[in-house]
Amino acid sequence: MSDQVLNLEGISKAYNIGKPNEVTVLQSCSLQISSGQVVSLVAPSGAGKSTLLHIAGLLDSPDEGRLDVMGQSMAHAGDKLRTDMRRTTIGFVYQFHHLLPEFTAAENIMLPQQAMGKRTSDTRRRALELLDQVGLAEREHHRPGELSGGEQQRVAFCRALANGPKLLLADEPTGNLDPETSDHVFGILMELVKSTGMSALIATHNLDLASRMDRHVVLGKGKIT
Ligand code: ADP
Repeated sequence: MSDQVLNLEGISKAYNIGKPNEVTVLQSCSLQISSGQVVSLVAPSGAGKSTLLHIAGLLDSPDEGRLDVMGQSMAHAGDKLRTDMRRTTIGFVYQFHHLLPEFTAAENIMLPQQAMGKRTSDTRRRALELLDQVGLAEREHHRPGELSGGEQQRVAFCRALANGPKLLLADEPTGNLDPETSDHVFGILMELVKSTGMSALIATHNLDLASRMDRHVVLGKGKIT
């Protein structure tokens, strides 16, 4: 059996097709990530990193190409299968935390678990365990507005990992932080990923951070090299 967690083959994507502002972002991109591999996606701004991550994360669809997650073909999957796969198998981290401001840190981590029908007591236990792992056990009752940028991002990591995904996709996860905080928070992310054995595709501009991953792919001129 293949141990591929993510398989992208010949993925193409353009926006505003047929209009004067048509832009081709991805041209026949291929990328395979196997179980436990942590891969950096390095590219300049505007190269299509977010587009590629959104396609891999089933938040957007390619115009062409093959897309398999955990060996299951997803390019033409229906909404229900895509939603189930996103909830159970894929964790997503954005550059900005996107935590819900009216909920506490613990509640933000409980919500995706509750969407899976898990018991509240179990979701709370899992949230506290994750907060402890990222050094934020004391912040469970804080709302996002009461946390620093680095703390907000650490809570966002916990939320992405809440349902035990097999694949983490992260779009410049520390790009919004100052260099020292970025380095520290990135180290916490790598520890989390390695301790669970999950695979990850992490977009970054930062070559120092990229060098801490197992493998590197570069996106430029619509192609992955
Ligand atoms: P990156 O994440 O590498 O900065 P993006 O994937 O966000 O790049 O964008 C790649 C290119 O696609 C950019 O030129 C951007 O302007 C264009 N683009 C992204 N999203 C859309 C959209 N929804 N409609 C039209 N053009 C878009």
